[in-house]
Amino acid sequence: MSSLRFRVVEEAFKKKAVAVERPEERPSDYFAKYVFNREKMFRYLPRTAYDALVDAIDNGKPLDREIADMVAAGMKKWAIEMGVTHYTHWFHPLTDGTAEKHDAFVEQDGNGGVVEEFSGKLLIQQEGDASSFPNGGIRNTFEARGYSAWDPSSPAFIVGDTLCIPTVFISYTGEALDYKAPLLKSLGAVTEAALDVCRYFDKNVKKVYSYLGWEQEYFLVDEGLYAARPDLLLTGRTLMGHESSKNQQLEDHYFGAIPTRVSAFMQELEIESLKLGIPVKTRHNEVAPNQFELAPIYEECNLANDHNQVIMELMRRIARRHGFRVLLHEKPFKGVNGSGKHNNWSLGTDTGVQLLSPGKTPEDNLQFVTFLVNVIMAVYKHNGLLKASISSATNAHRLGANEAPPAIISIFLGSQMSQVLDELENCSDDTTISFHGKTGVNLNIPKIPELLMDNTDRNRTSPFAFTGNRFEFRAVGSSANCASAMIVLNAAVAHQLKLFKIEVDKLIESGIPKEKSILSVLKSYIRESRPIRFDGNGYSDAWKEEACRRGLDCETSVPVIFDAYLRPSSIRMFSETGVMNAVELAARNEVKWETYTKKVQIEARVMGDLVLNHILPVATRFQSMLLDTVCKIKNVFPEEEAAEISARDIDIIRKIAFHSTAIQDKVAAMVDARKLANKIENEREKAVAYHDTVVPKLDEIRYHTDKLELMIDNQMWPLPKYRELLFVR
Ligand code: ADP
Ligand code: MG
Repeated sequence: MSSLRFRVVEEAFKKKAVAVERPEERPSDYFAKYVFNREKMFRYLPRTAYDALVDAIDNGKPLDREIADMVAAGMKKWAIEMGVTHYTHWFHPLTDGTAEKHDAFVEQDGNGGVVEEFSGKLLIQQEGDASSFPNGGIRNTFEARGYSAWDPSSPAFIVGDTLCIPTVFISYTGEALDYKAPLLKSLGAVTEAALDVCRYFDKNVKKVYSYLGWEQEYFLVDEGLYAARPDLLLTGRTLMGHESSKNQQLEDHYFGAIPTRVSAFMQELEIESLKLGIPVKTRHNEVAPNQFELAPIYEECNLANDHNQVIMELMRRIARRHGFRVLLHEKPFKGVNGSGKHNNWSLGTDTGVQLLSPGKTPEDNLQFVTFLVNVIMAVYKHNGLLKASISSATNAHRLGANEAPPAIISIFLGSQMSQVLDELENCSDDTTISFHGKTGVNLNIPKIPELLMDNTDRNRTSPFAFTGNRFEFRAVGSSANCASAMIVLNAAVAHQLKLFKIEVDKLIESGIPKEKSILSVLKSYIRESRPIRFDGNGYSDAWKEEACRRGLDCETSVPVIFDAYLRPSSIRMFSETGVMNAVELAARNEVKWETYTKKVQIEARVMGDLVLNHILPVATRFQSMLLDTVCKIKNVFPEEEAAEISARDIDIIRKIAFHSTAIQDKVAAMVDARKLANKIENEREKAVAYHDTVVPKLDEIRYHTDKLELMIDNQMWPLPKYRELLFVR
């Protein structure tokens, strides 16, 4: 019977907010308490080691072994004072989440006792049996060694009793097996290319940074209800469930007060995040019931991404303390909004200039337009690849749905910026306005207002929107590692800026003044990249047709979308920027296809089990109760009257039979489809088969199951219903 469902609902209703211990100090006092940041480096390292480490962090200078030993000793001292007993290299394999293997500091002292040890060697590099992480065949089990190597640019931090050292994870032959290694390379490429372009405008700029500010959306579900839903437990989303009569129509959740149990969770999450040096700033309810968002202040891209990974783990852990489970899946519930992770991205200089922010002078504005147009051009050329970077089996349920970014990448600029670019494109090369203080240079830069985008000019349907001083990549999924999108974006912009510089330099060499050369190349780019600009409604069918006419990537099948990584233009872009080579790209695609297949396979198995062992038995039982009633009516009443009285029951009996049979047939067909697909050796073809033949069956089975939910006695229905999952908190 459904006693489990009713028990967990009752228990969930009784739960009260868990008390959160607030530190006595102010947030600014406990901020980064658990981080080996510069302040601690200064305190725990000899001056030579401190200087060398800072140089390594700021300028990428390599560290020698002696310095590494000093850094390790300082880190160990600090960590032990903080009560730490273990350390781990912490990295981002190509799975969801991060990986760690904890080792204790203890080593034998040679006299029968132990001492706490942590050498530079252990800090810098660790070998590991990496065959258990997805590697797309780069390493077979005979060559199962990979190693993790310290990333000094992201500071070590403490979680529980463990010192976590951010590392990259690479194979012995040097190929990246993680997200961080190519991310660091893409950041190196974009900051170098952007620096070269910046120097057209300001010779004093020494460094450019790539920034990321993510906004993490998530759902919270009461732990008891979660446990009573095998689909949530095993796949992260509900595979069935009829829509709640009330969901988000009234928009009362978004503007409503944060529920108390949730508020306690958020407070604790924020305190712990701040202690880990994550500058969390914003929290609010999201559109769907039980959906929320958390956002920090933006940071350097690599650090911001590490922080996102840390926070996802923190959310999982803290949610359980509050009797919740956090759902990071992009579409846990059909019929209400899914969750994304907007990636706000920009470039800025060490002199404090935001390169995607309009300036005050015509020179500033030429620089701004230069970066803006090059980003647009990069996104235009690689729109299919950018889509591939955010595509996954899970995000597929969100993209293209009615509230989420469409499955076509386009750029929203807003009316003001569109107008500026239109004017620029059409101005003649000879129109002149005098350039600040530099007579003789003639250039027509339209006046660019300092943008303060208001909400009316914030198209929510665009997957890639300019928001005044940055771009907001909204198609990124809530469970994703931001690095996937950031690798492609940074690399594509790096490549584009390099091409731009080559073209401009050529014109300058031919004797054309610098500003005029820049403008002339920009004008050609504005013209060429026009198809990627779209300010209209991204949800409309008209846009889909229009986008295909414009030649934008309109593919919707995730396994096929991944092909974009292996296009000649992508391979060229990645290899010319030094971010990834063809071998790595091929191997990573194997992992993507395999992961896709496995996720769908798991869903299909769970679906089969749920309907055959949880739903159909209940349907049969209810049907037989109705049959019983019908027979009894027949015994008591005259034939005609009996028929009239049992008409409704008979109708339901027929419908249950119809839907149950349909479910059985479709489950059998799904199993057959899986068997066929499993025979395919090629990972791409297998994933395509899963997409084409298994995924549609999941939807069909769901349709019939959701119909049954409406018919069967509520008392008997075994799984927590949508209204319970979405409104109990
Ligand atoms: P929204 O209205 O989209 O919710 P927020 O003000 O909450 O906007 O900001 C979203 C994120 O964008 C935050 O993480 C914020 O720090 C970040 N952000 C703001 N300016 C920039 C920038 N120049 N570069 C990168 N991220 C930025
Ligand atoms: Mg935003």
